[in-house]
Amino acid sequence: MCGIVGYTGNRKAAPILLDGLKKLEYRGYDSCGLAVMDGREITVNKVTGRIANLSERTRDGEAVPGVSGIGHTRWATHGAPTEENAHPHLSNDGRFAVVHNGIIENYMTLREELKSEGYHFESETDTEVIINLIQTCFTGNMREALIKASNRLRGSSRSGSSAPRSPERSTPRVNRAL
Ligand code: GLU
Repeated sequence: MCGIVGYTGNRKAAPILLDGLKKLEYRGYDSCGLAVMDGREITVNKVTGRIANLSERTRDGEAVPGVSGIGHTRWATHGAPTEENAHPHLSNDGRFAVVHNGIIENYMTLREELKSEGYHFESETDTEVIINLIQTCFTGNMREALIKASNRLRGSSRSGSSAPRSPERSTPRVNRAL
């Protein structure tokens, strides 16, 4: 099992998320990442291997703007421990990000269903269905979208999602610093 951290407040999020991830290192992991929101833009940074690599990539988090975000250490169950498969994962429209611990047992069915609706997938993980389900369930109320999406998932999981305060009004501007 790996780890999830989240932060929202007045301080720069990335250094705080990195600190949180370091405290979870003892649980073991193969890759790690952060998604931080700065107004209308979500910046994703992910690496294979140590949190030290993520710190180096983000200059200890100082290079990442934003006061709200989520972080993850991954222990791969579905898909190899690569940067593409590392979390956070973004929805197709780039407005939502997710980190997840556990397994989505019905992910193949959901993936095929979402593909038939035109969604594409960039990773081999079970996790990516969560965030595209959230996109498809979102009609203006984030809480409702989370409940609707969760009701479709089977398995034992914990996840954290991140979205702009008003995703319905935001222009997706994703900065994937991969
Ligand atoms: N099943 C997910 C994956 O393989 C999450 C694994 C975990 O709990 O870290 O990406």
